[in-house]
Amino acid sequence: MTYLFDPPPVPVLPIAGSDKLFPVHRIYCVGRNYAEHTREMGFDPDKEPPFFFMKTADALVTDGRFPYPAASKDVHWEIELAVALGSGGNDIPRSQAMQHVYGYGVALDMTRRDLQGVAKKMGRPWEIGKAFEKSAPCSAIVPADRCGHPTRGAIWLDVNGERRQTGDLSQMIWDIPSQIEYLSGLWDLRAGDLILTGTPAGVGAVRKGDRLEGHVDGVGDLDVTVV
Ligand code: MN
Repeated sequence: MTYLFDPPPVPVLPIAGSDKLFPVHRIYCVGRNYAEHTREMGFDPDKEPPFFFMKTADALVTDGRFPYPAASKDVHWEIELAVALGSGGNDIPRSQAMQHVYGYGVALDMTRRDLQGVAKKMGRPWEIGKAFEKSAPCSAIVPADRCGHPTRGAIWLDVNGERRQTGDLSQMIWDIPSQIEYLSGLWDLRAGDLILTGTPAGVGAVRKGDRLEGHVDGVGDLDVTVV
């Protein structure tokens, strides 16, 4: 048997210090995982457990160029630590969660905030706001055997040279082991899955030509231009 047409290419991320590629399976994203960002979105972080949505793996951007997407006039930046899984499973207890983490990256969860807002108001799914083409710029994956497993350290985003988002990894409401435990109770986690772990406060709208420079202490940097 042969394919009816050529299957799409496997989405990949480079691996720092390696000539191997990291093949991406799924992209899970946690919503409202930093208290201050939860408040800026109009919610109470004490009253609401975090929740997840997905982006498609083919939404990854690795060339540093984010094309301003269709149908939106309010496209927001969200800088996030990305966790890359090297193995997976179901019902992974938090005590064993970290052994499934291969490495880390610096990612942007680009968001059509206006369309997401309509979806929220109408109780509709979030894909229209979150899972559009090129919505997930990401750095190379840094293996944990090079960078360790960061639990604290600065995460920030500069837009055109001005600091717009700042936070610390220790401010996550749900830490990484909790996210893996929770996700693995709902889905089959696999090698190649990415988890975007939420964004600190300071989200805002991009314009064409903007330069987004993100950083996570101990992991690295991401440099993206809106085209
Ligand atoms: Mn996000």
